[in-house]
Amino acid sequence: MDWDKDARTHTRGTTRALATEAVHAGRDDLARQGLHAPPIDLSTTYPSYDSRGEAARIDSFAATGAEPDGPPVYGRLGNPTVARFETALARLEGTETAVAFASGMAALSAVLLVRGSMGLRHVVAVRPLYGCSDHLLTAGLLGSEVTWTDPAGVADALRPDTGLVLVESPANPTLAEVDLRAVAHACGSVPLLVDNTFATPVLQRPAAHGARLVLHSATKYLGGHGDVLAGVVACDEEFAGRLRQIRFATGGVLHPLAGYLLLRGLSTLPVRVRAASANAAELARRLAADPRVARVHYPRIGGAMVSFEVHGDPHEVIGGVRLVTPAVSLGSVDTLIQHPASISHRIVDADDRRDAGVSDRLLRLSVGLEDVDDLWADLDGALGERTGAPEGGRTGGTADRPEAPARN
Ligand SMILES: *Cc1c(COP(=O)(O)O)cnc(C)c1O
Repeated sequence: MDWDKDARTHTRGTTRALATEAVHAGRDDLARQGLHAPPIDLSTTYPSYDSRGEAARIDSFAATGAEPDGPPVYGRLGNPTVARFETALARLEGTETAVAFASGMAALSAVLLVRGSMGLRHVVAVRPLYGCSDHLLTAGLLGSEVTWTDPAGVADALRPDTGLVLVESPANPTLAEVDLRAVAHACGSVPLLVDNTFATPVLQRPAAHGARLVLHSATKYLGGHGDVLAGVVACDEEFAGRLRQIRFATGGVLHPLAGYLLLRGLSTLPVRVRAASANAAELARRLAADPRVARVHYPRIGGAMVSFEVHGDPHEVIGGVRLVTPAVSLGSVDTLIQHPASISHRIVDADDRRDAGVSDRLLRLSVGLEDVDDLWADLDGALGERTGAPEGGRTGGTADRPEAPARN
């Protein structure tokens, strides 16, 4: 797979490969300033002797949500270090702009608030979604009302007050994939939001398939080192203006230090995703050939996430790892494993969870950059005795494990 070559971005009449943008976007002005590393601006406020000019800038922000020209005004309106990350991510996703938030959930909340404030409270969504996204919609915490459907049912689920269609692909935690182009077509004029956290722009750029909004939990691959909590929405300038106004009024801003770390994270994103995906594909292959494993989920587009169902007790696997860290979250340089029914998707009603294909025996592995043989040795030990294979309990027929990873 030659991802970088496919994903070229267009800048000032020239096209650049994704790998080039990853290390240069958001940094275009640095050399002229005599800098190499981007500066971190921790100011919460900015002095101005021209209060008439400042009033005009605030008026213009209130009207359009466009980033104020000239010096920044106040940290909740915008921050130059965070803006570098926003510029870079927009470049990678191929959108006009991007708006960063304190977390992925703050980003999703802002999108719902934008649409809800326009009287468009109805959301059409496809399960599975990240557990807390599911919860936010199901519980109607922000006044939204959700209709759950499968991708083929999106067009029929739309109503006059539908403000958003929401999908994840590959989805958390089953890695189920959605045909983004088909869903975007079914949405008509209703904005499609694709949560691209698992794929990253290295593997998939949903805006090119018709998504108006591309959301990331930047906490995961974009940061990439398990030390930043952040969210971002890549979109057109018009929607971004409304998102900035909501961010200003509700306060879910990203800290500048986090903005700095995310910009740094983006510079290694293509390399990390490519290396971790190679490890993940190999682990998916070995798991699929293992009699202790009932089913392996690995996406067609690849990626560094692998989910698998065990014949035995998944809690024993979690308790048995030594090199792999048993922890929720994903997308870090090291490998993490968790049991979605207990942790990431615990907040989803058990029946809804199972209907969405999240088996109680499913484990979700976020594969990192360790040596693949070391990872396999650890998983092999954690999976327990090979004699614990399903033969004992089976009543005949064929084994339900596939020869190759299930492509879903
Ligand atoms: C983690 C995650 C979120 C939520 O992001 P936070 O940064 O934890 O708020 C949303 N969507 C997906 C797919 C996730 O994995």
